Amino acid sequence: MTEAEVMAVLATVNDPEIPVLSIVELGIVEQVRCRTDGVDVFLLPTFAGCPALELIRRAVVSALQAAGAPQVAVTFLTAPAWTTDRITQQGLDALSSFGIAAPGDAAPACPYCQSTQTRRESAFGPTLCRQVYYCDSCHQPFERMKPLTMAVKVR
Ligand SMILES: [Zn+2]
Repeated sequence: MTEAEVMAVLATVNDPEIPVLSIVELGIVEQVRCRTDGVDVFLLPTFAGCPALELIRRAVVSALQAAGAPQVAVTFLTAPAWTTDRITQQGLDALSSFGIAAPGDAAPACPYCQSTQTRRESAFGPTLCRQVYYCDSCHQPFERMKPLTMAVKVR
C-alpha cells in the first residue's frame, strides 16, 4: 500500500464521538509510514478523558487490514498537541451539518438558523468534548465542540 492509499482508508474511519467526522477531517492523523509487511499509523489523541482512543485504534487496524495491510501498528503521539485548529474545513462543515457548532472563542453561530444570539447552557455536553448551547433566536439547543488549544496528556 502507498501512503496515499493508507490516507484514503483512514478517511473512511469515523470518529466514534462524532460519527460524521473522519479521523482525517478531525486532524488526528499525524503520519503514516508504509513498510513492506505493514503500515505504521501515528495519531494524536484528541480530548483528555475521551474514552474513544481504543475504539479509534481498533477501527484503524480493522479498516487497514480489510484493505490488505497485513500488519498495522497504531501509535498515539504525545506531541505535537492536537488542537481544534487541526480540524479541516470539510470537517467543520460536517460538524455544522451534524448540528454541532465549530470550536472557537466567540459566541458560536446557531447551526440551524445562523443567529449569533446564543449562550452556553452547560459547560458539559453529552461527552467531555462537547458543550451545550442554546439559541435565543430559534430556541433550539445545540452542541459545540469544546475549544481546545492546550496540550493534552496521555494517561
Ligand atoms: Zn437558532
